[in-house]
Amino acid sequence: MMITDQQKFQAIISHAKEYGFVFQSSEIYDGLSAVYDYGPWGSELKRNIRDQWWNEMTRMHDNIVGIDAAIFMHPTTWKASGHVDNFSDPMIDNKDSKKRYRVDHLIEGFAEKLVADGKNDEADILIADMDRFLAANDFSGLKGLIERNKIVCSVSGTGNWTDVRQFNLMFSTQLGSVSDEANEIYLRPETAQGIFVNFLNVQKTARMKIPFGIAQVGKAFRNEIVARQFIFRMREFEQMEMQFFIRPGTQKEWYAYWKEERMKWHTGLGLPAENYRFHDHVKLAHYADAAVDIEYAFPIGWKEVEGIHSRTDFDLSSHQQYSGKKLQYFDNEINQNYVPYVIETSIGLDRMFLLSLSYAYTEEKWTKDDGKEDSRVVLKLPAKIAPIKLAILPLVKKDGLPEIARDIMHECRSDFYCFYEEKDTIGKRYRRMDALGTPFCITIDHQTKEDQTVTIRYRDTMMQERIALAKVRELVKEKIK
Ligand code: ATP
Repeated sequence: MMITDQQKFQAIISHAKEYGFVFQSSEIYDGLSAVYDYGPWGSELKRNIRDQWWNEMTRMHDNIVGIDAAIFMHPTTWKASGHVDNFSDPMIDNKDSKKRYRVDHLIEGFAEKLVADGKNDEADILIADMDRFLAANDFSGLKGLIERNKIVCSVSGTGNWTDVRQFNLMFSTQLGSVSDEANEIYLRPETAQGIFVNFLNVQKTARMKIPFGIAQVGKAFRNEIVARQFIFRMREFEQMEMQFFIRPGTQKEWYAYWKEERMKWHTGLGLPAENYRFHDHVKLAHYADAAVDIEYAFPIGWKEVEGIHSRTDFDLSSHQQYSGKKLQYFDNEINQNYVPYVIETSIGLDRMFLLSLSYAYTEEKWTKDDGKEDSRVVLKLPAKIAPIKLAILPLVKKDGLPEIARDIMHECRSDFYCFYEEKDTIGKRYRRMDALGTPFCITIDHQTKEDQTVTIRYRDTMMQERIALAKVRELVKEKIK
């Protein structure tokens, strides 16, 4: 029986918990909504994705360096960036259920129902109208659209709505002990601003020449109102961002360049190109002159995983204005001083994690030679990002086999993550490693003592072959390169 996408999504969430990838935050207190913790294998997978991104951006590009800026920043940063005034979503409340909706989500949800009923044209018109009203910040237009389409609240079932209002997504807290407004600071809603305010520090100390980039991975916080869909939309999450500083006027070519580069990174991980597409923004953010999303076919539909934004000189100019400090670059090739333009690539680490699980999670069933049914759940994660690369399994817990296994573990563990297990039957151990996405298992048996060979088992094909024990380390290293 085929499982539906919704069932697959639920199965991924259960699997992530059962096998130690992702837990609800503070679960013993019934959890904190839209906040999650990563377990032993989840934190490995997440770290591997982060390393793939970091290495690609910094080590593989001569002209990109990294930084690690603080989460707290001077509050004026967020005035300059536009977040205090603009970082908000239009929201609407249902007066009967008191449930609050993001207007675009409410309308999109209704459009999905129209599509399910075969009314594709009506859905297209509705979305086009919504985009038009959103672009014009026309709140009464949006409310009118909801009323005309008789869109109701899923809890109360009524169409008794408040007016549409803006709701700022930044979390704030107090710096110091005196609680007055002057001390109010924000938890950064994006990592980008830590890069902009350090533009000159980095350019000068790392002796960078335009075009060059600054990369950063770090936490960001958004008080998302409709935070659902597991780790797709979280209140605390991690971003991997790179700001690429360029000469004004060259933004079109660099924008095209980074679109291609970033897509290549995704497919270079071994993820299928047909699961990806570009989606141009209709409504541009206040800082952008072009913007595109890289979308992935998640089980919950085509969704954004990464954004490429042509941010013009908006951020640097604005920080220059608010701080009174010059944020300019002297380009000696053209003998000119200017505020650089910026192309940004911004990807959610947690969303990339969910994407990897969505791609990898596979339920398989087959009939064995003896006619019996068999099945497994396997995570077909690219070997490069799999939490455990090699499982080392002595067939039995005696006869010197654990000692040989420990020796090979000792030899390999500094090169890649190895996992030793001697409990349970070998079949059960293979299944457990499939569920964790371990690409290679080796079994040490009595023959190993005689001829120094082991059985290696490949996760995706379940094929097994004997290879020399001495070759294991190189083989795994080669495959995870
Ligand atoms: P969305 O439209 O989904 O709210 P966005 O366009 O606001 O996202 P950006 O501000 O461009 O997102 O942030 C860049 C990336 O950060 C996104 O592509 C996404 O991968 C990630 N991201 C943004 N918000 C969240 C969130 N609440 N939880 C997890 N990841 C997020």
